[in-house]
Amino acid sequence: MAGITKIMGVPFNNISMTEALGITLIALNERKKTVIYTPNPEMVMAAQKDREFMTVLNSGDLLIPDGIGIVKASKFYPNPIKERVAGYDLVQALFSKIKTTVNTVYFLGGAEGVADTARQKMQRKHRGLSITGSHHGYFKDGSPEEKEVIDEINRLNPEILLVGLGFPRQEKWIYNHKDELNSIIIIGVGGSFDVMSGKVKRAPDFYINHGLEWFYRLITQPTRAKRMLVLPVFMIRAIGDRFGAKIEFNGGKVSIKKSAKKKNKKRKEK
Ligand code: UDP
Repeated sequence: MAGITKIMGVPFNNISMTEALGITLIALNERKKTVIYTPNPEMVMAAQKDREFMTVLNSGDLLIPDGIGIVKASKFYPNPIKERVAGYDLVQALFSKIKTTVNTVYFLGGAEGVADTARQKMQRKHRGLSITGSHHGYFKDGSPEEKEVIDEINRLNPEILLVGLGFPRQEKWIYNHKDELNSIIIIGVGGSFDVMSGKVKRAPDFYINHGLEWFYRLITQPTRAKRMLVLPVFMIRAIGDRFGAKIEFNGGKVSIKKSAKKKNKKRKEK
């Protein structure tokens, strides 16, 4: 069963990698503007406290589950998500498909020089792929530099725009600028340029195939440890959400309330 699986307010498309690629290629062919977000558990947790981020995620055309935690939590829901679809893998699959076409790509994000190295490496890896421009992601919102970047993207007119500014900045940035950008497919890619450039190593297949990419990142990038503490909290809250309970952790105290969803349902039944 395809459709949407909503986890803690975030509506995931329950689709496989093949389906996600198919939808993206059809949108590209039909020139149908499509915004793709790739939420992981950290992002779902951040959206609980950031209403704007939640609204932005809900406005996406395709939300793919980029994290094994999302897939595992969804097993408690009526429409469990079939597989993890990592944004990085979707982009690589897309590159393989478009390298023989006239479609072009632009890389926006990462530290100075990273997107450019990523661009060269990807053009070497996917012979024929045309990445017509790149820019680092450390411009200020509303600055003249930002305007120049948008003008450059529109002048180069890439069909595909990858935005890697970290969450929630990249999703909010896409939401705020998608109407002034000519690109057809716009994807929030997180730290993908770091991986494409070789600055950060992706987990070996063993870890990915066993749903342990998060563990590999933890041991290779220990500075992320604090960020990753939200993962077990996400699992508990997501399961609570499925059964209509809002579980909160506050300074060592745990509180369990009926979620707004369940309260509304009760009200409707009355
Ligand atoms: N980044 C950026 N501009 C910013 C903040 C972050 O371009 O204002 C980039 C950063 O250099 C990195 C990416 O955004 O390449 C975020 O990477 P991270 O690994 O945190 O993202 P994840 O894949 O976990 O979402």
